[in-house]
Amino acid sequence: MDSQKSVSIELQNLQVDTLGTPQIASPLRNKNYYVENNARIVIDPDFSQVDKSKTFEIAGPRSEVFFDGAQITCGIVTCGGLCPGINNVIRTIVMTLREQYKVPKILGFRYGYQGLSNAPLAEPMELTPQKVENIHNHGGTILGSSRGKQDINEMIDVLIQKNVSILFVIGGDGTLNGAHEMVKEIKKRNLMISIIGIPKTIDNDIVGTSQTFGFSSAVNIAEKVISCAHYEALSAWNGIGLVKLMGRDSGFVAAHATLANNDVNYCFVPEDSLTLEGETGLLNVLEHRLEKKRHAVIVVAEGAGQNLFHTSATQRDASGNVLHKDIGVFLKDKINAHFSHKNIPITLKYIDPSYTIRSVKANSEDSTFCLMLGQNAVHAGMSGRTGIFIGYWNQTFTHVPFKVVINKRKKIDTKSALWKIFQETIGYNGRDNIVE
Ligand code: ATP
Ligand code: MG
Repeated sequence: MDSQKSVSIELQNLQVDTLGTPQIASPLRNKNYYVENNARIVIDPDFSQVDKSKTFEIAGPRSEVFFDGAQITCGIVTCGGLCPGINNVIRTIVMTLREQYKVPKILGFRYGYQGLSNAPLAEPMELTPQKVENIHNHGGTILGSSRGKQDINEMIDVLIQKNVSILFVIGGDGTLNGAHEMVKEIKKRNLMISIIGIPKTIDNDIVGTSQTFGFSSAVNIAEKVISCAHYEALSAWNGIGLVKLMGRDSGFVAAHATLANNDVNYCFVPEDSLTLEGETGLLNVLEHRLEKKRHAVIVVAEGAGQNLFHTSATQRDASGNVLHKDIGVFLKDKINAHFSHKNIPITLKYIDPSYTIRSVKANSEDSTFCLMLGQNAVHAGMSGRTGIFIGYWNQTFTHVPFKVVINKRKKIDTKSALWKIFQETIGYNGRDNIVE
């Protein structure tokens, strides 16, 4: 992961040769895509010169610890939706606490924050190295998870009753919000309890960290599903493969899986608008494409195209997250109706892999990442830090205060290189992408 830092680069070899001054205007369609001719990136930034107010604290073991590991009890809880790698993080936390810091008792609270209420669905599970030995080979979470708010005071009372000194919370934005509320109450009561977060979301939508675990595994699966949709489309006259992928507010999974796959013709994410009607609308553009190519693949993130629904009623899940209208089924029906109305035969195969992209076991990239996140979480808790999650920034693990993420969500930056590549390669912007 930090491989680039260990490579020694000879500075005298860095000048790039060129054949001469380029004179011909570039034919690229997207003119915003250009890079300044002399743009460069620093190899070895001089951090001593950096404005310290614009830095994250670096994670890792400290020479002094706050807690005597042999004397404390720790807790772990997993909340929100599933994500590949949760069990890997649990395993690493348990192993590191036990093997490195000699913590004798580790409690796994069951079924999310509900397990920290005073009427839990199940009693906490004692986590030992034997208990977690093989759990990284399985998807899901051995502790169980849930949504729905719990009383903060009640949860803190339970931590006191169970003598917990460090609680590790593995969850998304909602979980980190809840953890932030707990930290505030712990401070108010002047308690010596640390709360450390490990951000979990396949959507990769947590601010303050460039990457979250599970994302890479989810993209791997999503890419395979798109590939199946492509074969379905190719195998029929006017075949259309339509795939809906997770991504309530941020389209990172759909965008990355689309770029990884290369066979997608149109991809819609929540960060961009979706137009169906008119000359540049999807229906017309799709019709034009079928005339020429006889097949098409469309990917849509679940939060895309919500502007197309004309109802204002908002439904929410147990945690208060807005439930989006089903854009996948909506598009399927609209496309079928459009071609049926025109008497153009099509074969549309709609694939919604739904939860299957998040309940698989972690791939090798995520497994490595989870191991490092878990170890750094333990080091942070043992050093007495609290109210932070382990982030990853500029190839370095960091301590990010919960305050940074409260009521914020990371979205695809429409000025970023990813967006430019996405637009250039596939992003639907009212044009056909047939290569003549
Ligand atoms: P996902 O990425 O799957 O949505 P998440 O962590 O955001 O993960 P949520 O169900 O939204 O999942 O939240 C997890 C838990 O945190 C829920 O039990 C929710 O009620 C609780 N929670 C969210 N916000 C708060 C808050 N402000 N105070 C207390 N608890 C909260
Ligand atoms: Mg959430």
